[in-house]
Amino acid sequence: MKNKMFIFIILSMILGIACGIAFPKHMLTFQWIGTLFINLLKLIVLPLIFSALVSAITSMGGMNRLGSIGVYTIGYVLLSVSLAVIIGLVLLNVLQPGVGIPANFILANSSPADIRPVEFSSFLLTLFPPNIIAAAAKFEIMPVVFFSIVFSIACVNVGETAKPVIAFFNGMRDIFVKMIVWLMYLTPIGLFSLLGSAIAEAALQNRLMESVKGMMLFIIIFITGLFLQMLWQLAIVKFVLRRNAKEFVIASSDALLTAFATSSSMATLPVTLIVAKKEKVNDDVARFVLPLATTINLAGTAMYEAVSALFFCQILGMHLSLLSQVGVFMTAILAGMGATGIPEGGLVTMIMVLRVVNVPTSAIALLLPFDRILDRFRTMVNVWGDLVCATTVDHFTSKKQTPIVKNTLDNVRVLPVNNQA
Ligand code: ASP
Repeated sequence: MKNKMFIFIILSMILGIACGIAFPKHMLTFQWIGTLFINLLKLIVLPLIFSALVSAITSMGGMNRLGSIGVYTIGYVLLSVSLAVIIGLVLLNVLQPGVGIPANFILANSSPADIRPVEFSSFLLTLFPPNIIAAAAKFEIMPVVFFSIVFSIACVNVGETAKPVIAFFNGMRDIFVKMIVWLMYLTPIGLFSLLGSAIAEAALQNRLMESVKGMMLFIIIFITGLFLQMLWQLAIVKFVLRRNAKEFVIASSDALLTAFATSSSMATLPVTLIVAKKEKVNDDVARFVLPLATTINLAGTAMYEAVSALFFCQILGMHLSLLSQVGVFMTAILAGMGATGIPEGGLVTMIMVLRVVNVPTSAIALLLPFDRILDRFRTMVNVWGDLVCATTVDHFTSKKQTPIVKNTLDNVRVLPVNNQA
């Protein structure tokens, strides 16, 4: 049956939520399964990013194609992150959810948040660490992406003697794709455990509803903003890429659900790559654009940072001039692009944005109780943006191309999620 796996995933998520509410204590005993699922995804991510980028860049047949794919990708990312921040800022300015909330709401909720500030210069230095293996071991993705791109360009330039190295990484890439295909069969059980235990934790602590009081309008506005962000990208799919929007959403659903359940766009990357294959994105484009976009295209996160900063200012009764809002706009873009696609990764770079408007970083404590829920939604939007980005870049760069190499992924039986067996 078509979409059998998709139905399994939906059923398992519903079952997880129901069990989390009905038997929270028992559900928590299955938490390790979700952790194991995320560990397996993360285990594959780094070698996959490296081998996918090397095989993509070296198969592009020259720097011209790499250059145009790179320019389109960066262009799309800037557009998407900027629009996300603009949507958030407009909604906050018009609806003013923080006005009327007493300032002591921030102070009362403030406890020293366990988040260290990030200086811009030290952030830049982390892009180029002295030891790439040590950076990879700490799951720092950005340096690995940069290193892979430079390594691949060097391979192309070296020519003949680099060919065995390229063949090696092509083989590695196929092996990792195979492992992902196997891993995808575990998706329903992984998502069952992840969602179920998250709901069980919230139910047991009985904290969520308490903290949501007074924040409801902010939460609704933020989720509306995310929805608008998804909508304009869906319009691109329909009117610019001239694809069937409904089919595109359905095909993307495995990645979106995985993003929702794992709260990590980086851990979702293996699934995103498989979905791109279903969306018929050329493999060299998908393998180059998706790791890069997953690293820098965190539009949902950028929106969150901007709306939170404005929300805090409204609570504290601080009037922000247009110039200050431009400051928020610029830093939120940088913060979104610099954040890591891991659970709550955006909270770290939020400090950059708060500094611009002189809001104490302890204000973040106000968001912590329900951040894990909002994180799921913004991760979904981040992953959605990556998929539309890859499809758009493919649309504009692959039309005139004849395939340069026979795609080795064709040999792999992907689409486990449709279970066409
Ligand atoms: N969890 C988000 C992601 O992985 C990052 C964040 O907004 O905290 O994309």
